[in-house]
Amino acid sequence: MRIAFFGVGHMGGPMAANLVKAGHEVLAFDLVPALLQEAVNAGASAADSPKQAVENAEVVISMLPSGAAAKGLYLGDDGILGAIGQDSLIIDCSTIDAATARDLAGAAADSGRVMIDAPVSGGVGGAKAGTLTFICGGPEDAVERARAVLECMGSKIFRAGDNGAGQVAKICNNMLLAVHMIGTAEALQLGVDHGLDPKVLSDIMFASSGRNWSLEVYNPWPGVMEGVPSSNDYQGGFGVNLMNKDLGLALEAALASKSATPMGALAKSLYGLHANAGNGGLDFSSIQRFFKHRDE
Ligand code: NAD
Repeated sequence: MRIAFFGVGHMGGPMAANLVKAGHEVLAFDLVPALLQEAVNAGASAADSPKQAVENAEVVISMLPSGAAAKGLYLGDDGILGAIGQDSLIIDCSTIDAATARDLAGAAADSGRVMIDAPVSGGVGGAKAGTLTFICGGPEDAVERARAVLECMGSKIFRAGDNGAGQVAKICNNMLLAVHMIGTAEALQLGVDHGLDPKVLSDIMFASSGRNWSLEVYNPWPGVMEGVPSSNDYQGGFGVNLMNKDLGLALEAALASKSATPMGALAKSLYGLHANAGNGGLDFSSIQRFFKHRDE
């Protein structure tokens, strides 16, 4: 298939490369020439302009940093929506607010085109390995149409509901992830403060009712687990700034629906303080450091 791909950054770069590996013809576009060159090195072609990228494209994929960027790309002054073929399928994989996702899909539908939201879980590692989870929102038949393409980049594909539902499910998951990561970190610090070995305590909680994903595959205490960011000075992984962005989206969504999210609000405050202390670029499990005694 001929696929136009917008945004070949940390996530989009390897995703586009996996589409090339699967035999698709990928026309990439990014605002950063060096990133576009990396996509070309991985076998994609560089589009001269956003509109040229979508010419004859059967599928259009975007992986952008924000809702404003997605709105600008599709509906801005030089927006591409009108240049996309009527039979093409549009898949926005960016993590953005559900309202913008619905607006974009609505504008696409008004012009006779089909768009779904398909944010991902799995991080840069999942993007490189082609094992992302896609959390889709949109009409059932459109999600089914997207499946063959998404399977080149991921291993699990869910349909959460109509347009915007993919974004809602994604931020619900990330809000819960933030909450259990913080809970895991504070429990580990409490145990260590009372003389426990963090590895022994982790094993006990993992075998008990405190078990959760952070304990299972992403332990935040340095040295407890190999191959995770906490054992690499919190480098790589999923950044504090990105977690902050997702928590902000969760709180915006909660405001819109008048939902009570006290744990999410606290998590947003803690990650905000952690970012402001200069940790925005570290992996989000570095919240462990927040609980460290300053007098040590
Ligand atoms: P990134 O900043 O590395 O990449 C985004 C790219 O989009 C940049 O290269 C930027 O130049 C490009 N871009 C912006 N506006 C554009 C436009 N109009 N046309 C073409 N390109 C444009 O970000 P990322 O880490 O790849 O994240 C992308 C999205 O995936 C975000 O919404 C993020 O929340 C989500 N996400 C990221 C991770 C992660 O671990 N990095 C995990 C899951 C989801």
